[in-house]
Amino acid sequence: MNTNNRVEILDVPFLCATHVETVDVLTNLIDENKKVQVITANPEIVMMGRQNAAYMKLLKKADVITPDGIGIVLASRWIGKPLPERVAGYELLHALMRQANKYGWKYVLVGASPSSCDGAAEKLQEMYPDACYAGHFNGYFSTKDEKNIIEYIKEVEPQLLFVGLGAPRQEEWIAHQLPNLPVNVAMGVGGSFDVLSGAVKRAPLLWQKLYIEWLYRLLSQPKRWRRQLLLPRFAFTVLWNRFVLRNK
Ligand code: UDP
Repeated sequence: MNTNNRVEILDVPFLCATHVETVDVLTNLIDENKKVQVITANPEIVMMGRQNAAYMKLLKKADVITPDGIGIVLASRWIGKPLPERVAGYELLHALMRQANKYGWKYVLVGASPSSCDGAAEKLQEMYPDACYAGHFNGYFSTKDEKNIIEYIKEVEPQLLFVGLGAPRQEEWIAHQLPNLPVNVAMGVGGSFDVLSGAVKRAPLLWQKLYIEWLYRLLSQPKRWRRQLLLPRFAFTVLWNRFVLRNK
């Protein structure tokens, strides 16, 4: 499998692959010493792309975009080009860490508050002791700190760089920095460090299985309600394009 098998949802090209296939693709790319930006895109990210031309350009250039959220998978079915399943950022982070544990890859974390970032680094070292922990930096850095972070990453040459600065900043940061970094896979992980550190709880498994993780997030972090209004707008836009404009 390669990265060319894609399905476009509102112009954003998603890799048409299962979770396992996605991990295989990324593992092969690391073996080949390639440089890859991975974006785990949910409906919010797709809608951000529609509102921001520079961000859409960046999405179209990304090497691998995975469907992070049932909304994207449903949309792919509505347009008759089904993506096999959800490939969520948090799970992909763990899957890549399992590979890191197996192959001894180095990893660096950038993002989140100092306590979340420390907690996430500690948790990952505990869970994946044979992966090569190579450093972590919180996401509230000055321009001077940023220079040091970049220099440090250049020195350690990690296979994996996880960036938790929230969307769209993390994708923009990676797209800007990656060309000059000796990193194989750089991936935005949103609030994953908050979950790893225990600062934020992920939806219980049942909620995830019922595809209502978004509802859990809305109830536990009510200030996100405005962001979640993008979900019905996303669904409406996909259906409008499909059945009224008939262009997808
Ligand atoms: N964040 C950061 N630096 C900033 C702003 C935000 O490191 O200047 C972190 C924040 O602490 C949190 C993450 O970015 O850990 C954003 O999490 P969120 O759940 O909002 O991610 P999203 O839903 O945007 O993927």
